[in-house]
Amino acid sequence: MGGRRRRRKIIARPKRTLPKIFVCPNCGAQTVNVKRIGEGKYVVVCGTCGLREEFDEHPRWSAVDYYNAFVDHFLEGKIKPPQQAGERPAEEGDGGS
Ligand SMILES: [Zn+2]
Repeated sequence: MGGRRRRRKIIARPKRTLPKIFVCPNCGAQTVNVKRIGEGKYVVVCGTCGLREEFDEHPRWSAVDYYNAFVDHFLEGKIKPPQQAGERPAEEGDGGS
C-alpha cells in the first residue's frame, strides 16, 4: 500500500477588480458606481448627482445588471435624484463628510 499522494490543485484565479463605473441616466456623468454594501446588498450610486438605489443581491447579476435595473427604475420614475426631488426623503442617515 503505497502512500496515496494527494495532489493539490492550485488554480490561480486572477481576480481583477474591474472598475464598475457607468454613465448616470440623470446627469450624464460617468460616475455611477456599483458596490456591495454588506450581506446581500448592493447599492448603485452616482457620485455627481447623488442618484442612488439599493438592491438585494441577485446571485446571477453582475454590476452591469444592477446598473441596468437602476437605469430602468430611474426612467420609470421610481427613483429620483436628491436635488430634484420635490419631497424630502423620508430618512437621510448621512450626516457629515
Ligand atoms: Zn448622476
